[in-house]
Amino acid sequence: MGNIDDEVAKLCLDKYASLKKTGKPSENEWTVLSGVVLQKVSKKLCVVSLCTGTKCLSGMELRNTRYEERGDRLSDSHAEILARRAFLRYLYNQIELLIRNQKCDIFYLEDNKVKLNDVSFYFYSSQTPCGDCSIIPKLSNEFDDSASSCKRIKRESIDIEVEYGLKVTDIYRTGAKCVESENRQDPRKDGVNYHLVGPLRTKPGRGDRTLSLSCSDKIAKWNVMGVQGALLSLMIPSIRFERIIIGGGCPYSFESMQRGISRRFDTKIKHPIITQSKLSFESRKHGCLRCKPCPSSIVWCEVPERQIEIAVNGIKQGATKKKKNSSSLLISRKELFKTFLRVYDMLFDAKQLQHPKKIMYFHYKQYSLCYQNLWKDTLKVFHAWPVKPLYLQECLSF
Ligand SMILES: [Zn+2]
Repeated sequence: MGNIDDEVAKLCLDKYASLKKTGKPSENEWTVLSGVVLQKVSKKLCVVSLCTGTKCLSGMELRNTRYEERGDRLSDSHAEILARRAFLRYLYNQIELLIRNQKCDIFYLEDNKVKLNDVSFYFYSSQTPCGDCSIIPKLSNEFDDSASSCKRIKRESIDIEVEYGLKVTDIYRTGAKCVESENRQDPRKDGVNYHLVGPLRTKPGRGDRTLSLSCSDKIAKWNVMGVQGALLSLMIPSIRFERIIIGGGCPYSFESMQRGISRRFDTKIKHPIITQSKLSFESRKHGCLRCKPCPSSIVWCEVPERQIEIAVNGIKQGATKKKKNSSSLLISRKELFKTFLRVYDMLFDAKQLQHPKKIMYFHYKQYSLCYQNLWKDTLKVFHAWPVKPLYLQECLSF
């Protein structure tokens, strides 16, 4: 094929096609497909995580979660967010392989430190992420499948000013609302003046507002902080997605993507390469054919055991209250933390670092000082980023 972006998209689409039907949308449902593709030292490409999902719990649903269950349930099940969590499972497994002297594709040990091989990671998503990236100029009433609109929208403090060759009369909107800590809110006027561009937003959803930020905002954070997060930062170097590839057949604008991921925060932030593939995902949202969001999610990653899980409402599909401890997904905060403790113990001599009996997830995150300091610096850029209530940052130890 030649074009790396189409190759990445095709690998994700083929991988999806190879998975069983369970968790996939029915004929009138749509979903989003996101994945991470590794380019090995040999330059060979392979999918390492792949997920689908459209849902997000409301603030109310989260607040009503019992204390013992905090950390069990995923609040944000948008495909992009799941694909990053599944990618974390993949990274933990790669560290394990390294420690056991088994074939590890991405890491090597040097001076007792885990280093990254000369590999690259690409992020694929079948549609433009929700939030700022999705505020896109509309060039005509009908969306033309073959054309990707790339007209410029310039950021202004109050209105969107549009620089264009063709007349832009309207914009694609996002259901994501500006976070309350932003001192600016959408004017909601007609046409191009409906939205502001730039502010952080919470995920779209009906009813009680969610506490999760939009995918545009989260991807922007990964771009600055690395995708590995605070816990893995204790073991491995920072990892960034070099390319972000959006699927074909959906509203897309390079300018809006670049603004949403990096340009709206600071000009010094490194821009990933952003492109749109010609290949489109068959179960994407389109017209009245696929009009309902699919409630279930597929979570897959390249690990030796339990590669695939099906999720509904942030827990395993089919899980019942009776079966205790069987409902949380391996990518839930609680299970990833368990994995972290196990792998961390393997990597470091247990005598060097004794774990207190009951340690909160939150404390480990604070412990990752380097990451936290970088985040404090970054907060100057992401000034309105809401601080999560403590009950969303902790989970019980084991
Ligand atoms: Zn999203």
